[in-house]
Amino acid sequence: MAITIQHTVSLLPYNTFGIDVKAAHFVSVQTEDDMRTALRSGISPVLVLGGGSNILFTRDVTGLIIKNDISHIRVVREFKNRAWVDTGAGVQWHALVTWAVENNLGGLENMSLIPGTVGAAPVQNIGAYGVELKDVFVSLKAMNTATGQIRSFSLKECAFGYRDSVFKRELKGKYIILSVRVSLTTHRHKLNLSYGDIGKTLSEAGINQPGIRDISEAVCQIRRSKLPDPAEIGNCGSFFKNPETDLTVLNNIRKTHPDVPSYPLPDGRVKIPAGWLIEQCGWKGKRVGNTGSYARQALVLVNYGGATGEEVKNLSDQIITSVQNTFGITLEREVNIM
Ligand SMILES: Cc1cc2nc3c(=O)[nH]c(=O)nc-3n(C[C@H](O)[C@H](O)[C@H](O)COP(=O)(O)OP(=O)(O)OC[C@H]3O[C@@H](n4cnc5c(N)ncnc54)[C@H](O)[C@@H]3O)c2cc1C
Repeated sequence: MAITIQHTVSLLPYNTFGIDVKAAHFVSVQTEDDMRTALRSGISPVLVLGGGSNILFTRDVTGLIIKNDISHIRVVREFKNRAWVDTGAGVQWHALVTWAVENNLGGLENMSLIPGTVGAAPVQNIGAYGVELKDVFVSLKAMNTATGQIRSFSLKECAFGYRDSVFKRELKGKYIILSVRVSLTTHRHKLNLSYGDIGKTLSEAGINQPGIRDISEAVCQIRRSKLPDPAEIGNCGSFFKNPETDLTVLNNIRKTHPDVPSYPLPDGRVKIPAGWLIEQCGWKGKRVGNTGSYARQALVLVNYGGATGEEVKNLSDQIITSVQNTFGITLEREVNIM
């Protein structure tokens, strides 16, 4: 298979933060064979890029960027009330959600409008509005970057956690995800309306018996009203994870901030919204140079235009220090820093 490796390529169009760095070498691949050929080019290190919506470039990239454009969506097996769907890693996540809704396949609708590709979805076990990829996940196929061999990963082998997986930890950079298999309902869909404003948005629209399409549309509406569109203002969505802490930490915060929001976790700990912590420290809507914390959602850091990755990273460092000093909680970044 023929692939074309380009040299000294600006990554500006390839990351939603809109950071202008250069890749020494860049290739787009459409097939598994192309992927193997790209890996055999001998250029290293290799960085696989999907939609660039969860990555902050702080410097030029010296190795090879492989833009994963492997695209297909197909039903591979049907059961009584379920269908297994295989999707190429290069497909846009929201295109898969839209395809599923149009084909009356349920399970992805709460994750409507999450930017990026299907191949990156398992890396941080994407999730929104009470549903995570792991809830529909069956398996994935990935290529070993050192050997070119393909292997499949089960749900257990992916070790999914909150915005976390084995691909962010032990196997970071060691595998390129080629396709993902999900299990979707064909009828009697399990609707998840309890999270965030979904129920409220539906009832305001006069929808009492929603289907998966209604939920998808409600989620899109809510997200558009809350999150900045990367086409207009550079960002990567939530910059930090919501911290999970012991009850004692929460009780300490309650002494000075009785209104602190928290969500119980199955293991007895609690999740505290990072956006709230950042807001309490006075960062919400604050601009520092060309970057800042978004006025409508403190958790989102934005590029007002011309920001460098280093500038955004520095702001995130300041926010981490400030939350640490005020609440004794260390925020963890969700975005991958390069
Ligand atoms: C406005 C906005 C809202 C967002 N909302 C959400 C949300 O609600 N929930 C959520 O979970 N995320 C959210 N995100 C983050 C982002 O959309 C997801 O993390 C998404 O999965 C990233 O996909 P991508 O293709 O852009 O990944 P990239 O940014 O291209 O890559 C992210 C990481 O995954 C690796 N990677 C990419 N593709 C592959 C592959 N095929 N194999 C192996 N590794 C790979 C990259 O090397 C990199 O380390 C949001 C982002 C934005 C901009």
